[in-house]
Amino acid sequence: MKKVFSFVVVALTSCMILNAQQPQKNPESTETWEPVPPIVTPGEGPQAPSDAVVLFNGSNLDQWTNSKGEAATWTLEGGAVTVKPGTGTIQTKQLFGDCQLHIEFREPSVVKGESQGRGNSGIFLQGNYELQVLDCYNNKTYSNGQTGSIYKQHIPLVNACKKPGEWQTYDVVYTAPKFGESGRIVTPAYITVLHNGVLIQNHVAIWGHTEYIGYPAYTKHGKGPLVLQDHGDLVSFRNIWIREL
Ligand code: MG
Repeated sequence: MKKVFSFVVVALTSCMILNAQQPQKNPESTETWEPVPPIVTPGEGPQAPSDAVVLFNGSNLDQWTNSKGEAATWTLEGGAVTVKPGTGTIQTKQLFGDCQLHIEFREPSVVKGESQGRGNSGIFLQGNYELQVLDCYNNKTYSNGQTGSIYKQHIPLVNACKKPGEWQTYDVVYTAPKFGESGRIVTPAYITVLHNGVLIQNHVAIWGHTEYIGYPAYTKHGKGPLVLQDHGDLVSFRNIWIREL
C-alpha cells in the first residue's frame, strides 16, 4: 500500500513538473479573474483615499483623547494641531493593527534646542513602537534616534528632512506583530516608511517596544491606538489618515 501511495505521489509530482514545463499555448491559461480588487478613489492633493479613516482633517479632535481617555486639548489652529507642552500624549479612539498611515508634520520655525531637544515628538504605532519625529535639519543627534528612526532600533536609510517650518510627510506601511497563546512573539512587527516621498525604512523588523532606556522586548497586545508624543516641543500635525489592511 505504502509503495502504491509513493508511486502515485511521484507520478503526480512528475506530471505537475512536466505540465509546468509545457509551453502554454494560450494567454488565457495564466489569467486570474478572481478576486476582483475593490475600487478605491485616490485622493486629490491632500484628500484621503476613499476607503481611509480620516483621523484629523484640520477641523476638530473628535477622534482623539488624551492618555486618560479625556478630550484631547492640543492646540487647533490653521488646519493643524500642535502639541500643547505638558498636557501629554494624544491618541486615537479607534484601535488599529496592520495599516497604511499618512501623516504630515511641521517642525517649529523658531529653532531652539539641539540633538533630541529640537522639535521632538513621535508617532507610536499600536501605542508601542515609535517612529521618531525630530528636527534633524542641521541638527546632529544619535543616528538611531534621528528623524525617521524606529527609536533606538533602526537608523533611517537617509536624512530627508525639510527645513523647520515646512510641512513634511510620512507614509507608513505597518504590519502588526503576531503573538502565540503563551504570549511569545511569533512574527515581529514590520514597518516601511517614506519621508517626504523618500524611502527611509524598508520593511524592517521591529525588535519590541521602543525604549528610552534599555533594550526592546515584546509583550503581547492586540490592536492599539495611534499615539502622538508630547516631548515639550511645538510640533504640528495635519492631514492624518489611515487605511486598515
Ligand atoms: Mg520622540
